[in-house]
Amino acid sequence: MTYIVTDNCIKCKYMDCVEVCPVDCFYEGENMLVIHPDECIDCGVCEPECPAEAIKPDTESGLDKWLEINQKYSAVWPNITEKRDAPDDAKAFDGEAGKFEKYFSEAPGEGD
Ligand code: SF4
Ligand code: SF4
Repeated sequence: MTYIVTDNCIKCKYMDCVEVCPVDCFYEGENMLVIHPDECIDCGVCEPECPAEAIKPDTESGLDKWLEINQKYSAVWPNITEKRDAPDDAKAFDGEAGKFEKYFSEAPGEGD
C-alpha cells in the first residue's frame, strides 16, 4: 500500500506535507503534488498535516485513478522537500468538486 495525493490538492498546494515526509517522496506539478508510491513507506504522518485533506491511503475504495496519477507523474515531476508559500487564491479552490477535469496540468513544478 501507499499514500497518494488526490483531487483537492489541485490549486491548493499548501505543501505542509513535504516537510514531514521522512523519505522525501513528494513530487511537484504545476498546480498539485503527488507521492511516489514505490518510495512511500506508508508511515502516514503526512495525512493529518494536509489542510485540504487531499492525502489518502490507497486502500480507500475508488482511488485507482489517483494511484495511477501519482505513479505516472512522480516519475516525471521534480522532487520537492521544502515548503513554499501556497498560491494566494488557494482557499478559493479548497473543496471545489471536479478539479481534475477542470484544472489538472501535466506541466512540472519547480521542485527544489
Ligand atoms: S498539504 Fe495537501 S494540499 Fe498541500 S501540497 Fe500537500 S497534499 Fe497538496
Ligand atoms: S505516508 Fe509517510 S512516507 Fe508516505 S508520503 Fe506520507 S510522510 Fe511520506
